[in-house]
Amino acid sequence: MAELRFSALQEVFNREPVKIETSSKVISKYFGEDVFNLHKMEHYLSKEAFRVVRQAIDEGKSLNRQEAEQVAIGLKAWAIERGATHFTHWFHPLTDGTAEKHDSFLETGDRGHIVENFSGEFLVQSEPDASSFPSGGIRNTFEARGYTAWDVSSPVFIVGTTLCIPTIFVSYTGEALDYKAPLLKALSALDKAAVAVCQYFDKDVTKVFATLGIEQEYFLVDEALYYARPDLVLAERTLMGHQASKDQQLADHYFSSIPERVMCFIKDFEYTAHKLGIPVKTRHNEVAPNQFECAPIHEEVNLAVDHNQLLMDIMKRTARKHKFRVLFHEKPFAGINGSGKHNNWSLSTNTGVNLLSPGKNPKTNLQFLTFLVNVIKAVNESNDIIRASVINESNSWRLGGHEAPPAIISVFLGSYLLSMLDDIASKVTEKKMSPALKTELKLGIGKIPEILLDNTDRNRTSPFAFTGNRFEFRAVGSSANCSAPMIALNSAVAYQLTKFKSEVDQIIKKGRNKDEAIFQVLKKYILDSERVLFEGDNYSTEWHAEAAKRKLCNISSVPDSLKCYLNDISKEVLTSTGVFTEKELRSRVDVEYDKFTKIVQIEARVLGDLAINHIVPTAIKYMTTLIENVKGLKDVFSEEEYEKLSCPRKQNIRLLADHINEIQQLVRDMIEARKKANVIEDAYRKAITYEKNVKPYLNSIRRHIDKLELIVDDEIWPLPKYRELLFTR
Ligand code: ADP
Ligand code: MG
Repeated sequence: MAELRFSALQEVFNREPVKIETSSKVISKYFGEDVFNLHKMEHYLSKEAFRVVRQAIDEGKSLNRQEAEQVAIGLKAWAIERGATHFTHWFHPLTDGTAEKHDSFLETGDRGHIVENFSGEFLVQSEPDASSFPSGGIRNTFEARGYTAWDVSSPVFIVGTTLCIPTIFVSYTGEALDYKAPLLKALSALDKAAVAVCQYFDKDVTKVFATLGIEQEYFLVDEALYYARPDLVLAERTLMGHQASKDQQLADHYFSSIPERVMCFIKDFEYTAHKLGIPVKTRHNEVAPNQFECAPIHEEVNLAVDHNQLLMDIMKRTARKHKFRVLFHEKPFAGINGSGKHNNWSLSTNTGVNLLSPGKNPKTNLQFLTFLVNVIKAVNESNDIIRASVINESNSWRLGGHEAPPAIISVFLGSYLLSMLDDIASKVTEKKMSPALKTELKLGIGKIPEILLDNTDRNRTSPFAFTGNRFEFRAVGSSANCSAPMIALNSAVAYQLTKFKSEVDQIIKKGRNKDEAIFQVLKKYILDSERVLFEGDNYSTEWHAEAAKRKLCNISSVPDSLKCYLNDISKEVLTSTGVFTEKELRSRVDVEYDKFTKIVQIEARVLGDLAINHIVPTAIKYMTTLIENVKGLKDVFSEEEYEKLSCPRKQNIRLLADHINEIQQLVRDMIEARKKANVIEDAYRKAITYEKNVKPYLNSIRRHIDKLELIVDDEIWPLPKYRELLFTR
């Protein structure tokens, strides 16, 4: 087996960068080339069809058959011209990946000839067999069909020779089986609630959309080394491996120059992404060795999520061309930084205003504070949903480490805004406010600097930090489909804004003026949300104690966090906004429990297999060599010399024997624990049993293996070591 490791290393030493040619040196020349965007629609669609699609996009409507037929004609012409032979409905099942089933444009024509056809029917709807996708019991086998329906707000694109149509995915009975359907509902609820609140400030606001900029972190590993690590292949993380003597201590990888082979890979995937209209802008080396980040310019949330899913797919494919594997797992290597996916989130209006950016005058700033405080209140009230939306098996290895916030969701504001809120909380009164006080408040608010960006002290440890004109939700894991956190956050804010509007209206009805009513409710919200505001070091142990005092939840158990989706408050938020029915919510949580159980099960199996079939035999082999050697020493040396020489070797033999024994025992125990857990029917109980009784073996077994790695002869160690995985390229 060690041969595989050494031949892999040899392969890596011989690699050359794979250079690519772009069709132009100017990105804007090929940007969006593979997308059927508005510009191309105008060119390929009839005037009427173009008008209808635009309207559908703007108003979030769907097309009728006849309209779809019109659009399909133009779309087909464009697609065939660009070399597409197939089409697919592209959707986001609850698996964290995307799904596609290709059909060619081929059809039998009237006179038996084969012709290329693409009708409106195919464009707007399709009926893939849904039976193999997770549904959490929503779908019975006798109604295995699922329906996909075109999401007009996300443009159609071509990958290779396939025309991809972004769609939602629902069951025969109409329940969502994917991430996109509830995301669109959450965004629409947010739009409605936010527009109503904007009306207090600006009657011209008729649409509010959430924006999202996703920073994507990832690791690269050479393909040959990857294949020599079955744990990477099957679990996407290393289940064993002693820390390298040097890794990120010197912080010399962060922002350093990008290695040439990696640069070729990055340029290649960026080129594909740009042609697909994904506005990738930033690239840099991250903190850990072989860790990198890319970030696009922010877009409307639904589009940003689609683009991120597509980008991950492109990165995976492109990596193969460059003999790399890209790891999106949150913690592929123990002991060094894991990867996150910071979600930069804000709200924008049709009038071009960023609602989370301070404006120029007291009025726009009161609007800014209104939205800011409502978001804070939403994070406080819906703390459970927000945590549940980011926690899962893979992210549980990262959250609470040295590079990611713990499972306590708090908000960082920066000292300037914090004192602004304190001011409001202390000055506003429930009694009718004097004109002098109102003026004083407004003056204070008017002074908020327009460019807060540079005035916001950055807190890199906060899970949800205000960064001047947006919030940065940092707890999201690198492998996630951002729909889950975006459904949670946007639903929570939509729910909160609706409540705000009704509370303000009630006070207005009692005869107070609008500004006064707004101030009063804001004051109440500020006081209600104090516990969620935290400016200190979220990674410190003191914060855990402090959060407990504030009764701020800290649930690091994955199944227990997920269970919070079904709390009364969570249910109220997610169902009253129309995002989920209770049935959908329950089924979704069941899918998540099941996913957790299965991932732990897979990791446990892989580790058991590697421990017993790779590591133990290697350790025994080395032990045997030592035993032979010790025996031989006796023949060569005097009794006294022999004692001196053999003593450390005997100690090593003992250590080897102990670790081997421990590993064998622990693997047996782990299998027993799995057997017991496997018979449990209830999805939550099974998951929690896996978490409590199986998951701990992953670390305890690995500890012995990592010790063995330090003792056993490097020549026969079967798996590429951390220093090789992290530094060879
Ligand atoms: P940093 O690492 O300093 O946080 P990056 O440049 O890596 O910054 O990423 C910042 C991200 O925030 C980008 O994707 C950017 O487009 C996004 N962003 C900026 N303004 C907004 C906004 N109003 N809404 C959503 N995202 C935004
Ligand atoms: Mg950032």
